[in-house]
Amino acid sequence: MPSLNIHRNDTVKVLTGSDRGKTGRVLRVFPDKGTVLVEHVRVVKKTVSSKQGQRTKGGIAEQESPINVSNVMLVCPNCGPVRVGFKVEGDHKVRVCKKCGQTMPTKVK
Ligand SMILES: [Zn+2]
Repeated sequence: MPSLNIHRNDTVKVLTGSDRGKTGRVLRVFPDKGTVLVEHVRVVKKTVSSKQGQRTKGGIAEQESPINVSNVMLVCPNCGPVRVGFKVEGDHKVRVCKKCGQTMPTKVK
């Protein structure tokens, strides 16, 4: 499976589209598609019907649409939006800011 350098709960900045310049939290990643769902970014109004297993009732719902990972940049707490590098730490690969070298926290539980 291809892995993305953007993880769930990361803070990212949007680089393109009508939401350009916005920062938001990553709600979901779709590694096979190379897309991410970012909170409050590319929100579309959707008519939803009540389906089983869904919390929402029928009606109009606002929902984020996935955007390509190449259109977002990870935000470093020190530097802002940055390119991300990788470094091997012990048994696993960690992400580091290419500007300040700080390890990017992975907030996935
Ligand atoms: Zn940095």
